[in-house]
Amino acid sequence: MSVDTQRETHKFQAEINQLLNLVINSLYSHKEIFLRELVSNASDALDKLRFRSVTEPELLEGASELEIRLIPDAEKGTLTIEDTGIGMTRDELVKNLGTIAHSGSREFLELVAQRGQKDVNLIGQFGVGFYSAYLVADHVEVVSRAAGKDPQAWKWASDAKGSFTVEPAERATRGTSITLHLKADQKEFLDEWRLRSLVTQYSDYVNHPIKLQVQKTTGEGEAQKTETKLEVVNKASALWQRSKSEITDEQYQEFYKHLTHDWEVPLAWTHFRTEGNQVFTGLLFLPKNPPFDLNTPQQRGVRLFVKRVLIMDRCEEMLPQWLRFVRGVVDSDDLPLNVSRELLQDSAVVQAIRKHVTKKTLDMLEKLAKDKPEDYRTFWKSFGTVLKEGLAVDTEYREKLGALVRYESSREEGLTSLADYVSRMKEGQKAIYYVFGESRKAVVDSPHLEALKKRGYEVLYMTDPVDEWATQGLREFQDKPLVSAMHADLKLEETEEEKREKEQRAKGLGPLAERMKDVLKEHVREVRVSDRLTDSPCCLVVPEGGSHAFVERLLRERGRSVPRVKRILEVNPSHPIVEHLKALQEKEPESPQVTEWVELLYDQALLTEGSSVEDPNRFARRMTALMTQLAAHSPVKGTHTPAGAVAAGPETPTSEPKPTEGAAVAAGPETPVRPN
Ligand code: ADP
Ligand code: MG
Repeated sequence: MSVDTQRETHKFQAEINQLLNLVINSLYSHKEIFLRELVSNASDALDKLRFRSVTEPELLEGASELEIRLIPDAEKGTLTIEDTGIGMTRDELVKNLGTIAHSGSREFLELVAQRGQKDVNLIGQFGVGFYSAYLVADHVEVVSRAAGKDPQAWKWASDAKGSFTVEPAERATRGTSITLHLKADQKEFLDEWRLRSLVTQYSDYVNHPIKLQVQKTTGEGEAQKTETKLEVVNKASALWQRSKSEITDEQYQEFYKHLTHDWEVPLAWTHFRTEGNQVFTGLLFLPKNPPFDLNTPQQRGVRLFVKRVLIMDRCEEMLPQWLRFVRGVVDSDDLPLNVSRELLQDSAVVQAIRKHVTKKTLDMLEKLAKDKPEDYRTFWKSFGTVLKEGLAVDTEYREKLGALVRYESSREEGLTSLADYVSRMKEGQKAIYYVFGESRKAVVDSPHLEALKKRGYEVLYMTDPVDEWATQGLREFQDKPLVSAMHADLKLEETEEEKREKEQRAKGLGPLAERMKDVLKEHVREVRVSDRLTDSPCCLVVPEGGSHAFVERLLRERGRSVPRVKRILEVNPSHPIVEHLKALQEKEPESPQVTEWVELLYDQALLTEGSSVEDPNRFARRMTALMTQLAAHSPVKGTHTPAGAVAAGPETPTSEPKPTEGAAVAAGPETPVRPN
């Protein structure tokens, strides 16, 4: 079969086509990033080969050296980037370089679609991988031969005009050569010094030799001769094995980008080497933004090397689950090269590494919080929820995590640390108070906070589903217990006078308490006098061991069946409505109004905790009836009275209902007012 008849033409996937159009016409001025992308791919291909050769040494046959070569050809106007890595089969060429857009490309296209074509400059940050070759070339050829027995090589070629071709080719050994036919105005990339400096700038982290083909002229006159040589132009040692003082911030950042394919620079990193029982090096990074699949298993873990050989791209055993956002490298001298997943799971070496890595990560976070609070906030927004899981599952790190958590608070908008909260605690304040809810707005006026507000105590607003779980793990911070404002036991400091007053009030509910219990027996486990309410008539609180309404709702929304734990109804006996009910109950023990009002109060309490009422129609009917009566008896009728007069109604306490405005309100819905 002739080569010609074996040439196949394929169409690019639509997304890739779109990307190629942007790239090939780009006016972006830093086109040199193409080299970083192609060298990075070559380096990945070499790492993959080295890993596989641990168990299949025959893969190295024919060419044992692992290296990258840059070959400029001034005559032809081409630059070739060559590697002796894993190579690609025909199918891989088609799939990887034409029919499946990689995540970086997709994100880039989305962003360009959002922001308009003028932001094509973002190409620099995204890299867009292999296709960045078309920033500088109008025709690209890739010849690749996969490592292994099959000697067949394949050539992929395209001028980025909608399609590419694939055909059989010749290649002596495994690996990939990418030949760029440079555009007329991009010939600078043939220049030796330009290429040298680009390698130093962008690709110095690569731990394989990058060799540049150069022309060396020696001798004079007759004896002068020019020879072609390959010269190593990078340090060719793993970045993490060098000493910190030799590495610039830019080099760390370039390495991070290579490792993660993230286009943003990391927020922070930590680089360390341990000696002693375990010899290993760690280089860990804190990304700025969460990846879209942060919560999937594929996202966990760091790159594991054993004595410089890449063993695993994502080794999750090196980090606890709640640090799954950390990226980086662990290079151990103690693990065997043929280490397996099973072995990792119960290896004492791994346990020790994991512990150390965890500690180093928490130290890095602590330092970031201290030195760069702005960046720490960015981190918290991206990953705070994940970090908080640690409180629930790893009591060992409770103290360190307690110092890292941040919450909204009643003091002001924005986040606060527990240490700052404690430093602001009032004299006599025994606990750190918090409240749960969907949002700041949903909790800010919660009746549960009234007594705390009265005392001037700050309250933390917990609005994250994981918070209930996390606070149970944390329990206390700097010896101060964390107490939910919605919990039955508020642990408030009371003066003697307050205590007496409370006892007095407790008696105050009288037979109304029994009646309320009876009416609400299906809904609440207890009715009792509250010491947390000042302005509201009642609220629901969570008994010991119970769950907050917010959390129950969330679990239900997620389709989990949650047993409804009955809450406690706390009543404010000095509230005018309650006083009125008490009087009514004493006077007419059988009054149906009491039942209706009690139910209405219960519905209100449900609403203030963010729950929905069981029978919204009944609730609305009663409210309407109530307002209608109020309107009917309002002095606004006919004469003009300020609106305040209506509102004044319930605030005029009357123990004996009289035919006043107050009584009109108090007379209850669905029953006409009966003057006594
Ligand atoms: P990414 O590197 O983010 O996966 P690229 O567009 O840079 O995306 O590369 C696409 C894919 O093509 C790579 O994932 C890899 O499978 C393959 N590839 C690219 N260059 C090489 C190479 N030199 N050797 C082997 N495979 C390569
Ligand atoms: Mg790439």
